[in-house]
Amino acid sequence: MNTIEILHSKIINLMKKNILVIPGDGIGQEVTIWGKKVLEKIGQKYGHEFSFDEAIMGHVAIEATGNPLPDETLEKAKSSDAILFGAIGHAKYDNDPSAKVRPEQGLLKIRKELGLYANLRPILLFDELLDASSLKPEVLKGTDILFFRELTGDVYFGEKNRSEDNNFASDLMNYNRYEVERIAHKAFEAARTRSKKLCSVDKANVLETSRLWREVVQEIAKQYPDVETEHMFIDNAAMQLVKNPKKFDVVLTANLFGDILTDEASQIAGSMGMLASASIGDGTGFFEPIHGSAHDIAGQNKANPLASILSAALMLDISFGLQTEAKEVTEAVAAALKAGWRTGDIANANTPADKILGTQEMGAQVLEFIK
Ligand code: NAD
Repeated sequence: MNTIEILHSKIINLMKKNILVIPGDGIGQEVTIWGKKVLEKIGQKYGHEFSFDEAIMGHVAIEATGNPLPDETLEKAKSSDAILFGAIGHAKYDNDPSAKVRPEQGLLKIRKELGLYANLRPILLFDELLDASSLKPEVLKGTDILFFRELTGDVYFGEKNRSEDNNFASDLMNYNRYEVERIAHKAFEAARTRSKKLCSVDKANVLETSRLWREVVQEIAKQYPDVETEHMFIDNAAMQLVKNPKKFDVVLTANLFGDILTDEASQIAGSMGMLASASIGDGTGFFEPIHGSAHDIAGQNKANPLASILSAALMLDISFGLQTEAKEVTEAVAAALKAGWRTGDIANANTPADKILGTQEMGAQVLEFIK
């Protein structure tokens, strides 16, 4: 972009936005700072006034207040224009299923409170990382998938039971028609702007919720006759995703299936540390890497910050409609990768040792490419 184009975009598109940063736990603390720095630099470059506030959630919030989602955090979230989130989780709770207060309760509650029903997970494959995946480059090359994972229903929110003798447990999987309808419309609309192909993933041969899901998607598909709709069972989709990922474009699926399928899909992009996501609904958008708090590498400057930086790019694009700025961030990530810089998770045996960077150094490299 030349100086005149930048000046032009400044004149027509100046923005004033209030962004809430919630780093959360573990590597969330280390990577989110880089998503924020990128937003600051983009704001300065294009003349947008981005102001930042910070709040706590997850294990850090339990330690400080006893509540994984303090009221103050929720209030700040509701009054902000967009949220940049890191991750929640702590080993203490993973190994103690009986803990009544848990970090993930904060995340589930904020999604529900903000009405974030659609989680968009683009599988963005940088050519430079074709050899970072355990899958063959010729299988991967050209893959471009956009997942729509439903976020406010399913077993995550259904009634949970444990018998008194402790020998029985159940989680209720449930969906309302309107929950399927609203995310299906979002996914079909996105499919229209892409290659007009949508694959809805369910388990309609076994689950009643999936039969409702399929029925609703079939009805809505009639309103989008220009989109080619396919229905696939989750077990088959999990297999096809590694066999021939290029066959997918927009994938629409429920909360649990989407959670698992997108972790699998992260291996197409090379690492969990590469995948960003946007949770949207009726109000404030919520942007976060798909990875968790990664206790195994937390506090060691080993986490890949690119998923957080790419989450910031999704914020610019989806919440603020700043496509040029979003593209500049994605291009800066591509440029850092093209220059050979890697964090440990995306390096391989051929990566020179002096090209393997820590979290801070990789974040700084990306900033360098936003001139
Ligand atoms: P995880 O995503 O934290 O880690 C899985 C693996 O990927 C680990 O080996 C980790 O080192 C690696 N990894 C993840 N992000 C990386 C990055 N940016 N750079 C390099 N490597 C990366 O999943 P987990 O180990 O199953 O869970 C750890 C904790 O995170 C748990 O407490 C879990 O509940 C929580 N969790 C939170 C979220 C969230 O906040 N959205 C999502 C998933 C898991």
